[in-house]
Amino acid sequence: MKSSGFFHVPLPKNEPVLNYAPGTPERIKLKKAIGELLKQQVEIPMFINGKDVKTGRLREIRAPHDHSHILGYYHEGDQEFVKMAIDAALAARKKWASMPWEDRASVFLKAADLLCEPEYWTKINAATMLGQSKNVFQSEIDAVCELADFLRFNVKYMTEIYDFQPISPSGIWNRLDWRPLEGFIFAVTPFNFTSIAGNLPSAPAMLGNVVVWKPSKSQILSARVIMELFRDAGLPAGVINQVFVPGPVASDIVFFHSDFAGIHYTGSTEVFQGIWKTIGDNIFRYKNYPRIVGETGGKDFVFVHPSAHPNQVSTALIRGAFEYQGQKCSAASRAYIPESLWPKIRDLMLEDLATFKMGGPEDFSNFINAVIDETAFNRLSAVIERIRKEKTATIIAGGNCDKTVGYFIEPTIVLTSDPRYFAMQEEFFGPILTVYVYPDNKYEETLEICDKTSMYGLTGSIFATDREAINQASQKLMYAAGNFYINDKPTGAVVGQQPFGGSRGSGTNDKAGSVLNLLRWLTPRAIKENFVPPTSYKYPFMEEK
Ligand code: NAD
Repeated sequence: MKSSGFFHVPLPKNEPVLNYAPGTPERIKLKKAIGELLKQQVEIPMFINGKDVKTGRLREIRAPHDHSHILGYYHEGDQEFVKMAIDAALAARKKWASMPWEDRASVFLKAADLLCEPEYWTKINAATMLGQSKNVFQSEIDAVCELADFLRFNVKYMTEIYDFQPISPSGIWNRLDWRPLEGFIFAVTPFNFTSIAGNLPSAPAMLGNVVVWKPSKSQILSARVIMELFRDAGLPAGVINQVFVPGPVASDIVFFHSDFAGIHYTGSTEVFQGIWKTIGDNIFRYKNYPRIVGETGGKDFVFVHPSAHPNQVSTALIRGAFEYQGQKCSAASRAYIPESLWPKIRDLMLEDLATFKMGGPEDFSNFINAVIDETAFNRLSAVIERIRKEKTATIIAGGNCDKTVGYFIEPTIVLTSDPRYFAMQEEFFGPILTVYVYPDNKYEETLEICDKTSMYGLTGSIFATDREAINQASQKLMYAAGNFYINDKPTGAVVGQQPFGGSRGSGTNDKAGSVLNLLRWLTPRAIKENFVPPTSYKYPFMEEK
């Protein structure tokens, strides 16, 4: 990295969320883009070494909320294309790593600005809404605002890192040369957030790294828009290479390559643990110890103290558990509610649920859309069937599943008498909220149970007005959540405001969209330069008089 020695970049502002109310220009433009996307069947190539790559092995992209509708096809690759992507990345590395940081930064700042122009925000919202079955608001906060924020804030954080330099006594100049990693980075992204898909390859790349990016097969429509965005912003060929291959196919090449330098992963815990193990088994192959950064699953809680306001709790639960069909790693999926407040909170939630509309995202009045695919639908309906049969739990709302047209699972509330019930422990990744009602005088004991029930440690909330109760929860649940909310829902972290990530089974807690994450993609070299080198080996103490 050659620095200019002048690192000032203004602090960015979070991209404002457009509201898409009836009659607004943004709504008219977006409806038109959705209509156009619905009329065609796009064909999506991979993107390697700055070029579109077609294999002829076409795989369908179907709308989750209308599975008879084919939105397009993508070209699936195999191991040869993964090798090609690695070669392209390694060939681009030297030039990109030695490019002045301002040039690298400007590519991503430009990408953020392009994304906020109508041509791109309509495209990326239409792709996210139809491809991932997201309503317009959920898509806007993800695909446009959060992605633009990731790009702009990371540039700012990058300059803060470069600015971190050691002291130099007179006659000496000490400096840290913030080198990118020696090799290539493998970015593996999940289906549920378009912004994460954009952030995982771009964060290491802006620091001078080169990347092979494997998106989820369920997010390819919007992943392509991101790739076009980076290309149009001037990203040089080979810096980020996008391959469409099944995970294990990519893994068989990447984790056996001596230049593998790190993985930037978001997805399920199980897959991450498998990846970590494979890297461990192959550790002798690599030129460097690879960086392993992974954000994974959650079993996120809302804990309610008797001093809380019931309507604040019910709104947090409704939004936190059911927005985007509960397919957020941060989604509230277990709640601990005191007996005294339960009847009121339950009634408020049931009232809200009765007003929910479920259907395709192209109809803006639908709050709930479909879950991502048939595998998710089958998994979630099996969970609901199991709960229906068991005595320790009752389904008090929802529970209907229908895949005739799309993969629809009704937002479901489960009441259990067992705080360690499987539905209080396991991640389902769908619209299922399990509630345990505790005796008001067992607050502390129930906090203890909450802390020990699940293997995860991602997000969680405490609702209370009693300050001592808030403090107790904060202490007892110290490691139960990497993102802890007081009187707020556990979802909706904003870049620059709540750096995101969890520990325990939820990941390496490297806080996406922060300095902490960017540090993982750098390997500093300490340089000492002596302006007046000594010319004799003798020290003053050795003199005789
Ligand atoms: P997933 O684990 O099915 O897939 C994630 C990615 O891993 C995909 O690109 C997939 O193709 C790839 N993959 C699968 N097997 C692989 C292998 N053997 N080698 C390499 N790559 C492989 O997850 P998903 O369904 O896309 O996403 C949902 C999961 O992601 C949930 O568990 C959720 O909690 C988690 N998530 C976590 C965060 C976070 O920040 N903590 C954010 C979003 C999603």
